[in-house]
Amino acid sequence: MSKFEYYRPKCLNEVFKLMAENHGYSLLAGGTDLMVKLKENLIKPTAVIDLDGLEGLKGINLEAGRIVLGALTTHTRLEQSELINRFAPALAKAAGLVGSPQIRNKGTVGGNMGNASPAADTVPVLIALGAEVVLSSKEEIRTIPLEELFLGPGRTVLKPGELITTISFEVLNHQGCSFQKLGKRKALAISVINASASLEIEPETKVIKKVRIALGSVAATAVRVSAGEEILIGNYYSSELIKKAAEEVSKAIRPIDDVRSTAIYRKRVAEVLVGRALEEAWSQVTCTRGG
Ligand SMILES: Cc1cc2nc3c(=O)[nH]c(=O)nc-3n(C[C@H](O)[C@H](O)[C@H](O)COP(=O)(O)OP(=O)(O)OC[C@H]3O[C@@H](n4cnc5c(N)ncnc54)[C@H](O)[C@@H]3O)c2cc1C
Repeated sequence: MSKFEYYRPKCLNEVFKLMAENHGYSLLAGGTDLMVKLKENLIKPTAVIDLDGLEGLKGINLEAGRIVLGALTTHTRLEQSELINRFAPALAKAAGLVGSPQIRNKGTVGGNMGNASPAADTVPVLIALGAEVVLSSKEEIRTIPLEELFLGPGRTVLKPGELITTISFEVLNHQGCSFQKLGKRKALAISVINASASLEIEPETKVIKKVRIALGSVAATAVRVSAGEEILIGNYYSSELIKKAAEEVSKAIRPIDDVRSTAIYRKRVAEVLVGRALEEAWSQVTCTRGG
């Protein structure tokens, strides 16, 4: 590991100042990704800015009909949160499937975004929930849809001097959302593929009004697959329709062969996972919330 200055600011203004003064900085949240990169000399920052002292960026709140997650909220807090289990159980499930208890106790939702791994588990479910991220710098605060944050593996649209401060999504009464993950083991396994789907229905008619389908580990970034969504919108639920939508998703994605799997296998499994996610989202919206 190369030498670096270590800072632990207590407020955002201090973070902005440190980022301006140290051009080769890295931000540290839980460190579960960053420490691995530091130890393997994959990155050599001149300064590490530890965000753990920013208490205001920890926590989960319901504000004006939106769930707002501080970027420093850990996976354990997401998994155990009453608000998340009530309004977005798929997110609690995704957070609960990250790594191991130790990783979940330290790893944060903002770090899961900032690391920009195409296999990140909280990303597809947050995309399916229509999440937006707030990026803050000394100069401006901007809000973008989560899917626009990522440019490629390890690359985001974050500018120098900018960090993720919150992630939020709207709470909808007539929406169901599901997360599905396939790893090589049941625990401590990076996703071979993961998928999430949300369905919003017209409460009176039960016509499908809005759909979001997102997958991880099938491209350089997590992706939303509109081909599957279009088949469902404006229609009534049926098993055949779900099957067709899942097939369209499988046709549309372009995964690659890598250490964890092959492109062909991923295409097959994508169809299965998207089908399961849509079925589960449907049963949630019609049974649990009374449609
Ligand atoms: C053994 C092991 C198992 C794992 N299993 C999984 C898994 O199953 N699923 C999964 O999704 N991930 C997994 N991970 C990856 C990791 O735990 C998660 O990505 C975690 O959410 C990272 O959060 P962190 O707070 O530790 O990030 P850090 O390591 O602190 O940071 C990660 C990156 O994000 C940047 N960053 C952090 N916070 C911000 C911010 N607020 N704004 C801008 N940039 C920021 C950092 O600069 C760094 O580049 C695993 C890692 C390990 C070591």
